[in-house]
Amino acid sequence: MPDCPHSHVRASLDRWGECHWHLHQMEANYHDPDAFRYALNSFIRAVKEVPIILRHDLQRHGAARKAIDTQLDKLMRNALFQVLQKKRDFIVHHGVLALQSKGAVYTMEGATVKLTFPFPVAPWEPSDDAYERYKEVCRHDKFWRGIGPDCDSSPAIVRTWMIPQFAGRDLLEVAFEAWTLTGQVLSATVVALGGEPLDLALLCRHEPALVRMKRYSQKEFFMSVGGIDLDEEDRNFQAARAHRQVEKKTGQPPAS
Ligand SMILES: [Zn+2]
Repeated sequence: MPDCPHSHVRASLDRWGECHWHLHQMEANYHDPDAFRYALNSFIRAVKEVPIILRHDLQRHGAARKAIDTQLDKLMRNALFQVLQKKRDFIVHHGVLALQSKGAVYTMEGATVKLTFPFPVAPWEPSDDAYERYKEVCRHDKFWRGIGPDCDSSPAIVRTWMIPQFAGRDLLEVAFEAWTLTGQVLSATVVALGGEPLDLALLCRHEPALVRMKRYSQKEFFMSVGGIDLDEEDRNFQAARAHRQVEKKTGQPPAS
């Protein structure tokens, strides 16, 4: 029986699989600064080892090693690997996120963004805490309340994680790109060893715009900010409408 092509690069594939797990941890913890940074740093530590382990795995497979040169070059030109080549023990410290990470409040109507406004979300602050601050501002400031949700919309906090090394790019994007390029190298390796290409589609990835957004309850907002019970408002509205309908039909106000 011929060797399974994967068996020669099992250690590399395993580390790549670990990177995949860290990516989902980054997504799941996007609104919790420390947890996000821990997951990001775990990803960085794991992904930088993949080409190192791969070169080791391929020591006795010179032809395959040669066949993946182009893909390896491409990986090394990737933004994250460029940084890692300059600074081998690169990880993202607490303070560096403060320089470029941004926040905003959104007002959403269903899945549609109705209004966005910058709102300072501190890089050490969980989105839930930023949201509490936002509500407090709305309680005291007519301008902020005015751009907040109405009876057709609901609030959300949107944030991004950026550092100067990858200017203008969300760290989650940078990580996904590094994962994909690493996967392309591994896939080319498996093919060179006589196997099938790896599946790089990553259908389990969450929509980045939705990961960056944390939505909150419209009802809770109205009650918490203005003491307004939307359910009761709705009941009153329905009752008034029923009243008007009876009146229109009979020409008389309804006997209550
Ligand atoms: Zn997945």
